[in-house]
Amino acid sequence: MRKPDPTGRLWIEEGQPKHGLVAEVAPLAPIANTYTFTIPEDMESRIAIGQRVEIPLGRRGRLVKGFVVSLDRREWDSTLRSVHSLVDSTSYLTPELIELGRWISDHYCCPLATTLKAMTPEATRRERGLKAVQYVRLRESQPDTDFESLSRKRKNVLTILRESKVPVSINDALSKAGCTRAVFRALQETEWIEIFERKEAPRAVIVPAPATNVVAPPYSLNDEQLAALATIEKQIDRQCFGVTLLFGVSGSGKTEVYIHAMRRVLETGRQVLLLVPEIMLTTQLVQRLMSRLPDVTVQHSALTETQRAVIWRKIAAGEARSVIGTRSAVFAPFPNLGLICIDEEQESSYKNLRAPRYHVRDVALGRAKQLGIPLVLGSATPSLETWFQSQGDPEHQRVELSHRVRDLPLPDIRIVDMRDECLEQRKPVDLSRLLLQWLEETLARGEQAILLMNRRGFALNVFCPSCKMRLTCPNCSAGLVAHSISGLCVCHYCRTSMTTPTHCSALGCGAELLHVGLGTQRVEALLKERFPQAKIRRADSDVVKHRRDYETIVEQFTGREIDVLVGTQMIAKGLDFPFVSFVGVVSADLAGMAGDFRANEKLFQLITQVAGRAGRADRPGRVVVQTFSPDIAALR
Ligand code: ADP
Ligand code: ZN
Repeated sequence: MRKPDPTGRLWIEEGQPKHGLVAEVAPLAPIANTYTFTIPEDMESRIAIGQRVEIPLGRRGRLVKGFVVSLDRREWDSTLRSVHSLVDSTSYLTPELIELGRWISDHYCCPLATTLKAMTPEATRRERGLKAVQYVRLRESQPDTDFESLSRKRKNVLTILRESKVPVSINDALSKAGCTRAVFRALQETEWIEIFERKEAPRAVIVPAPATNVVAPPYSLNDEQLAALATIEKQIDRQCFGVTLLFGVSGSGKTEVYIHAMRRVLETGRQVLLLVPEIMLTTQLVQRLMSRLPDVTVQHSALTETQRAVIWRKIAAGEARSVIGTRSAVFAPFPNLGLICIDEEQESSYKNLRAPRYHVRDVALGRAKQLGIPLVLGSATPSLETWFQSQGDPEHQRVELSHRVRDLPLPDIRIVDMRDECLEQRKPVDLSRLLLQWLEETLARGEQAILLMNRRGFALNVFCPSCKMRLTCPNCSAGLVAHSISGLCVCHYCRTSMTTPTHCSALGCGAELLHVGLGTQRVEALLKERFPQAKIRRADSDVVKHRRDYETIVEQFTGREIDVLVGTQMIAKGLDFPFVSFVGVVSADLAGMAGDFRANEKLFQLITQVAGRAGRADRPGRVVVQTFSPDIAALR
């Protein structure tokens, strides 16, 4: 008699204890529990941890998919239901990754199976794009039949298989033995050989990582870099967990320090992982790393499903030794990982915005701890969390690179108060005199400039030059944005709109309101008018829709086919252009960031980053930061 367990979990049967292989399965359903199932005998040799299986769930035994999270041979005395069928033939979820998944699931309150699903790309679970290739090998226990009594053809096949220590693909075996498939089938039926399938990458799939010769750079590390490296190497050599914050101003050679640390680990035969924000995966960084590290593989979201599956397999096989990747690469199935580096650790793109809402830094920390390996976090503007931890936590250390390489000076940064600028010029001003003057000088010297305008389009703020106040929404106090075409000003938060007033409504003021503040498009138009000879290009999400567009702009700017690059934050990060000597931040305020408690932190990071683009080679850099709110913490 079967009766339901009062907990509703299992069917309990009184009876003899049994012994066998049981699987713990996390169902792909909004359930926090895992359940235990027995495994049919014919499935025992094929089932593995991390595979998806179908299991009966609930009273009716509805079939649900789930991940096998542990396998155990043990006694069980209740009547467990058994796994219904296998969904995947392989798994890239190692026991260690499942452990990590359990932590993520627990920490971010997300069901285990949903977490495991997010950790393994669909393409790798399905092995999409991989070809099934049939292989043959001798059975472990050979039949009692006398070998000599077999036909000549059959003996020939068996001899070929005996001589080859590894399984032979059936096509190779057919051509070597010069016989038909029927011979193989007969040998399979009489249990001499077994035929099985393996998924293999088709030759045509090109994973974007051409093998290049590893070269040494034409310079040696400076004293600060050497000191930072020595601290990290101490951890590497001890082979234990530890976090190092590599706090270095932009252009101080952090990337160079990662490269050396990675090479140190590679020498010991282990694998390394460098995590970078999506936007950084430009040809620039990748090419630099590919010329310096062996077996580099790049993993990012623009890959095809097949490429992704192939990369995952190469990593699992230990063939991909240096992996550069975005967020999801932290879950790659490294058999032998020795170091994780995270560049620009403060980047908000490291936070996953879907369940599980993990932060890659914390996951990397968990993984490094689990494996007992070092983690290096690099940044010129560390997140507050990392900064705090580097100040007292015994497992965290901080090393600083306070100078730019080759003693290049940090750029000369000036803040221009646009309120004064408008008052002094007695008109609305978009580009200050200092910005225009320095830009003009830059162009006259044949150098390049970057202008950051972190808002697209033409949007304007409405502002009273006398009270120095911005026109705000009556409902939510956010700044109103004037849309020049409609004559309305709109709140981008609550969508309140009104006719744009012409005069200040403050008591006893009545001054004429000014329209100030810009979008990229207008900055571009203004510059073209002012500098008709200059080659000006805009880079924002209106014109850069694909990765290719971005790469083209980077190439053209590097090739000096562009003089002035106007863009949103996509141009602020990680790029190294030796001929840029001037950077202008057209509008540094918190507009559009209301409600984000990191608004000041982010603005500071953005300005610091873009300023770091100036003067990276021999030309001293200059930076102008225009603002209507010089008192905000980010600017102070
Ligand atoms: P960061 O990552 O801190 O911005 P990078 O590692 O990209 O800095 O280095 C900035 C530039 O300086 C790169 O072009 C790099 O090749 C060069 N560089 C790095 N280290 C040195 C060094 N010790 N001597 C000379 N040039 C260096
Ligand atoms: Zn509003």
